Amino acid sequence: MEIRKQALEKLEHFCLNHLAKYSSTRNFDFGPEQRENTSVLSKYITHRVVDEIEVLKSSYSKFSYAKIEKFIQEVMWRTYWKGWLEMRPKVWQDYNKDLLELKKETKKNYLDAINAQTNVEPFNDWALELKQTGYLHNHARMWFASVWIFTLNLPWQLGADFFLKNLLDGDAASNTLSWRWVAGLHTQGKHYVAAEWNINKFSKKKYKNLKLNETAIAKYETTIYETYPIAFDTTTNDQSLFLIHNLDSNFIQQNQTQSNHYGVMDFTSILQKQAYSENVINFKKNINNELKNLIKEKFNSEIYIDSLENLQKVIKEKNIKQVILPYLNVGYENDFIQSIKKEVNITYSVRDYDRYCWQFATKGFFKFKEQIPKVLAKFLT
Ligand SMILES: Cc1cc2nc3c(=O)[nH]c(=O)nc-3n(C[C@H](O)[C@H](O)[C@H](O)COP(=O)(O)OP(=O)(O)OC[C@H]3O[C@@H](n4cnc5c(N)ncnc54)[C@H](O)[C@@H]3O)c2cc1C
Repeated sequence: MEIRKQALEKLEHFCLNHLAKYSSTRNFDFGPEQRENTSVLSKYITHRVVDEIEVLKSSYSKFSYAKIEKFIQEVMWRTYWKGWLEMRPKVWQDYNKDLLELKKETKKNYLDAINAQTNVEPFNDWALELKQTGYLHNHARMWFASVWIFTLNLPWQLGADFFLKNLLDGDAASNTLSWRWVAGLHTQGKHYVAAEWNINKFSKKKYKNLKLNETAIAKYETTIYETYPIAFDTTTNDQSLFLIHNLDSNFIQQNQTQSNHYGVMDFTSILQKQAYSENVINFKKNINNELKNLIKEKFNSEIYIDSLENLQKVIKEKNIKQVILPYLNVGYENDFIQSIKKEVNITYSVRDYDRYCWQFATKGFFKFKEQIPKVLAKFLT
């Protein structure tokens, strides 16, 4: 796969040339032309064009844990967020309910924000950069979310939605929960307030007279989200159709599968209905095309599913008893699959890494972090 080749080259280049300085330089946003101080691998990792174990292995093979602890922890944040949300799917459901309500009425200050027309200059710069490139530096994401919530007084849900649909690395867990973290809803009372000095210290462009609300108090909610254990499926291979998808693109290269038939599951129409940006849709389409070629080369199959009707037709033609997909986390793609489960027998195949790590995501990241040495010992040796 061409895109995988690109991702692996980028990973190798980053580990050899920039990883050593990651912990001291990672907080600086030097602008879109100078993005070497972080890996910019997120769009590949979100789609598992390269997966977390490959990223961890590649970095750990070159440096000691102590030297690259910060980078390893950042990769593990993604795993933590996914496990955390997986055990509290109601956070995602409530967020979507709120979005439906909020979108009934479009307010001018919301339109100004997404069209980069506010009176906060850096915010406008970030909004444009996000729409043009599909990426923002982590610090810019924190500043953006903070200004959105505390200075522009906009609902965090609308900001998270704007991010999810414009980021090439958009991920329901990392995105929703990071927005909640900035607002002060993840760790109750602990919020992130963007300050002028901090923006000017860490961003390339320097801004004057920013009128930010630097004394804002954390957002508050009364709902307490309970934790539910994740119910993993048992899969049987008999008369099965295995459908790979672009949220776990290298699943079949990394895991044993023994299905009778193989194909690709395409979620484009689901994401188009949710109004994902063209940029994001096109990136995902490129991955889908490569998955299509992979399935053709590896299994001589041309099965390509892009609707329920299409799936039902293939099931009938090939006498399929079970459809298996790489595990889909909380998100719009999973919402669609759950909605068709009454009509089609579908199970998820989970990676050992996910199953193992997610069990530790019951509380805060601090507790999760204590388990990282165990994770590395289990999966990197
Ligand atoms: C409001 C907000 C929204 C965000 N939305 C997303 C999102 O939708 N998708 C997403 O992948 N990340 C999201 N992040 C996390 C983070 O900003 C990006 O992962 C990171 O900026 C990607 O750049 P990079 O690949 O150079 O990261 P690096 O610093 O090189 O880190 C390596 C990898 O670790 C993971 N990672 C790093 N930091 C985090 C983090 N804080 N949380 C989760 N994973 C992390 C990513 O997979 C990243 O590619 C969000 C952060 C905030 C504050």
